[in-house]
Amino acid sequence: MEMEELKKSLQYVSHKVYNRGLTQATGGNISVRLPERDAILIKRSGISLGEVAQEDALVLSMEGEVLEGEGFPSKEFRFHLGIYLERPDVQAIVHCHPNYAIGYACLGMELPLPTVTAQKILSHVPVAKSALSGSLELAEYVTDTFRQNPGIKACLMENHGICAVGSDLEEAYNIATLVEDTAKQAYIMSQILANRTLEKANS
Ligand code: 13P
Ligand code: ZN
Repeated sequence: MEMEELKKSLQYVSHKVYNRGLTQATGGNISVRLPERDAILIKRSGISLGEVAQEDALVLSMEGEVLEGEGFPSKEFRFHLGIYLERPDVQAIVHCHPNYAIGYACLGMELPLPTVTAQKILSHVPVAKSALSGSLELAEYVTDTFRQNPGIKACLMENHGICAVGSDLEEAYNIATLVEDTAKQAYIMSQILANRTLEKANS
């Protein structure tokens, strides 16, 4: 894909993430590898995913230097680069703050996988340890999680959000939606079970 097409795609997927309610305010960031270049496109820091325009996609070297575009790159650029260096198969990354998945992430729990679809596609969604947004420590925790769990499609980030990867932006987006929908289904299941236990105890 050409640079202009990738910028368009980054804008399109950013809007989809926001409009589907997978993140709030200025939370979340998205990146994609540039073909035949040792560089990525990444969202500018501080802008809502719902408002991202093509000029908010900055070109960043694998050393973290802005090569093209105005403004600062997403403050989470270090874990984006860390994942790309660790996983040559990953072409795109979606980091967002979806509510149900965050419920599990805040409790430091791995994502439960109740459905065969989630088991087949996600297989295992571990939790990266908590650290301040944008910190080197957080980047290390997220990168370590991808290093220690080869082939994972996503991880939860304790007290923060999720990170989904894919062979292109659409796949990374689809993984993010599957993680959130799976978290919602697991939560609904836990509520049904809790009600059933209560009903049994009261009968
Ligand atoms: P940026 O706006 O710098 O990408 O930060 C958003 C975020 O989700 C931080 O974790
Ligand atoms: Zn975040």
